[in-house]
Amino acid sequence: MAHTLPALGYAFDALEPHIDAQTMQIHHDKHHQAYVDNLNKALAGTDGENKSLEELIANVSKYPMAVRNNGGGHWNHTLFWEILGTGTTLGGKLADAINSTFGSLDGLKEKMNTAGATRFGSGWAWLIVKDGKLEVCSTPNQDNPLMDIAEVKGTPILGIDVWEHAYYLKYQNKRPDYLNAIWNVINWDAVAKKYEAAL
Ligand code: MN
Repeated sequence: MAHTLPALGYAFDALEPHIDAQTMQIHHDKHHQAYVDNLNKALAGTDGENKSLEELIANVSKYPMAVRNNGGGHWNHTLFWEILGTGTTLGGKLADAINSTFGSLDGLKEKMNTAGATRFGSGWAWLIVKDGKLEVCSTPNQDNPLMDIAEVKGTPILGIDVWEHAYYLKYQNKRPDYLNAIWNVINWDAVAKKYEAAL
């Protein structure tokens, strides 16, 4: 049961000018593909070969570091492509939960951007559902809050990749500028669906 790269649900240039086409193409076709390939390599001939990605992630401490890094990379990027897009607005139950938890959408953005900007080196900022409540956290490298080794555990419904490969071509060293821009291309319908599923 080899893992495969999911197709991007939109064109590489769909998120322009906020995320440029070249970054999207390299990020999806090269970086994500490499996580998939290296995950398959790490699992070849082991019992992990017959486990789903979700099972691997939930028990990642039992596997070699290559499974943690590449399995996390595969899971995280699969979510990332899904929660990006244009033409949606935040509403409904998710909007209510964001307003009651963070005061407003701006309150959430501030919390996520601080989590992303202060994550030293490479990692992710997350909006998670934990015990039915929204919470913001961050993880190093390709870890995520579903992993048994995570400091803060929960179900991610929105993740922002703060590895330099996610923004360096357009934003260079200015990670905060990338973090401000990415809010223009969040697919709120996708995030709302993940919120409902996580509850
Ligand atoms: Mn990435």
